[in-house]
Amino acid sequence: MTRRNWLRALLPLGWASATATAAADADAASKPTRSDAVVLTEAQWRQRLTPAQYRVLREEGTEPPGSSPLNAEKRPGTYACAGCALPLFSHTAKYESGTGWPSFHTPLPGVLGTKTDFKLILPRTEYHCARCGGHQGHVFDDGPRPSGKRYCNNGLALVFVPEAA
Ligand SMILES: [Zn+2]
Repeated sequence: MTRRNWLRALLPLGWASATATAAADADAASKPTRSDAVVLTEAQWRQRLTPAQYRVLREEGTEPPGSSPLNAEKRPGTYACAGCALPLFSHTAKYESGTGWPSFHTPLPGVLGTKTDFKLILPRTEYHCARCGGHQGHVFDDGPRPSGKRYCNNGLALVFVPEAA
C-alpha cells in the first residue's frame, strides 16, 4: 500500500484528500512563489548541485547533525540559497542552538515559503527558498528573541558570503 493510500484509509474523508495531496507532494521540491522565480528541470538541477545538495534542496533530505562547516561560521556576512544564490539570512540572525545544524531566529524579508510536512508523522513546518523552491529546513517555536523561532537549516542548502572587508 502506498503512503498516500495508507493516509486515505486512516484519515476521515474530506480532510484525507487534502492531507494525502500534501504528503504526496512532500517528496518533490516546493514551487517558487516569487516573481523572479528560478525554475529549472530536474536534469539542470542535478548539473548545478552536488548529489548531497540535490538530496537536500530538491528531495527535502536532511544532512547529519554536526556535519556542516557552517555550524562554526562566525564571520559577518550573508547566508544565501545554494540553489539560486538568493540571500536568506544575515549573520546577525544566526545563533548556536546546540542541535548540530546552522540555526537562525529570523530570515530576511520575503525570501522563504513554508508548508506542513508529515515525514515524521507529527506535522512539522518545512521552509524553502521562495525563488527556487529549494528545501532549506524546518522552523520550530522554541527559538530565542526577538522572533521566538528556530530556523533549523541544512548547511548544504546554504552558501556563506562573507561581508566585504
Ligand atoms: Zn533558492
